[in-house]
Amino acid sequence: MNATDFSIGICVPEFMNAALCVYKIVLFDKVLQRFVATLCFICLVWPFYPFFHLVEWKAFLAFDTILSFWHGTCKIFRVNCLNISVIIGGSRLLHYSIAVIPGDGIGPEVMNEGLKVLKAIEESHGGIRFACDEKPWNCEYYLKNGRMMPENGLDVLKDYDLILLGAIGAPGVPDHISVWELILPIRRAFQQYVNLRPVKLLRGLESPLRYKGHDDLDFVVVRENTEGEYSNMGGRMHQGTPFEMAVQNNVFTRYGTERIIKYAYNLAEKRPKKRLTAATKSNGINHSMPFWDEIVKEVGREHAGIETNLYHIDALAAYFITRPEEFDVVVASNLFGDILTDLGAAVVGGLGLAPSANINPEREFPSMFEPIHGSAPDIAGKGIANPIAQIWSLSMMMDHLGLPEIGKVILDSIEQVLIDGKVQTPDLGGKATTKELGDEIVSQIYKATR
Ligand code: ATP
Repeated sequence: MNATDFSIGICVPEFMNAALCVYKIVLFDKVLQRFVATLCFICLVWPFYPFFHLVEWKAFLAFDTILSFWHGTCKIFRVNCLNISVIIGGSRLLHYSIAVIPGDGIGPEVMNEGLKVLKAIEESHGGIRFACDEKPWNCEYYLKNGRMMPENGLDVLKDYDLILLGAIGAPGVPDHISVWELILPIRRAFQQYVNLRPVKLLRGLESPLRYKGHDDLDFVVVRENTEGEYSNMGGRMHQGTPFEMAVQNNVFTRYGTERIIKYAYNLAEKRPKKRLTAATKSNGINHSMPFWDEIVKEVGREHAGIETNLYHIDALAAYFITRPEEFDVVVASNLFGDILTDLGAAVVGGLGLAPSANINPEREFPSMFEPIHGSAPDIAGKGIANPIAQIWSLSMMMDHLGLPEIGKVILDSIEQVLIDGKVQTPDLGGKATTKELGDEIVSQIYKATR
């Protein structure tokens, strides 16, 4: 899959492509939509100008009538653009296949709400199709079949455009099986070496940090996702004896370290503060971390406009609490990034709100989108899990697809529901169920795209 898959149709005259680009922008921008609709409205009405004296103006000028006529024109505009794009684009019209893995515990509960959001996007946009295939790969599958996914599971997933994951893990199956036999093989086989985790205080929420507001809490953590501390190099010896031992090696390759740091710098170039913070611990881990620091400095030399700071992980954890406004892009190794982002989630309202994207930037393989949280066995089956992290991960999925206007509709809708504050799950201090909060976000999406 590459960028050309998102342009509608091949061998289409340039002006048509340009027109369809405008259509894609207009579709989810209400102001532009109204503007174009007004132009259409004037064009439609103008030829009838000589007959205006025959019209009963008082009735015609009623505000409601004008408004509904206006809405009608918007709709005609939208449907016609869609028809044109279907005719010239054929089957290549914004069609994405998604392997859906609901997983365990609250995974399937929050996934249900995510799938409703995808449906709402399909319906309100009109020109996108998400073909979702559910895969029943989870701990229950493991208990029945002795493996977390079929032998050819990765081959099956390879052919999808995207993967959407709920959560994996159940009390009866050790984490080193559920994680190492499903999530980690996917991240590694598909070279999803970037784990992107926004730390952003959504409008409508207050941070547990009393003096910090929305401008203070808006940064992104780029976590290395394929090597580092989560390597399977090492072993155990003399088990069951007093000499028992375990060795776990950290693996930092130049290739793996360089590519994640380059990705982080490139992201920092696109963000307003132009600042990169790298997590290190070179005072205690004296081989791999100095190597990491050297590469940060090397790559940093190619990005002179970016201010770079290297902080030891222990201090950095404290700064997440005391001065989060300082951060813009934070790059960290696999373990450090994992820990930092749970802390990041806590300062913006909790795990139920924190999404994550496992990205293969080269787009040779499908990328995977999921909430940060796990299967939360303590609340599983009660129908009270917060679905926002899962739904926000769909917004990240849209950004990845090059459809930021749709990503924005999803995130704005989440924020609007939080600002309204009427429907909130218990983790946010409310009494609503997972389904009620999901439904509210879906109806906000319909409202926003009407
Ligand atoms: P993992 O090992 O996969 O990170 P975990 O068992 O350590 O998982 P989680 O499953 O993420 O941790 O849950 C940690 C806490 O956060 C639990 O108390 C859980 O109830 C709460 N929690 C997690 N996700 C949600 C959610 N979507 N809504 C509400 N509470 C949640």
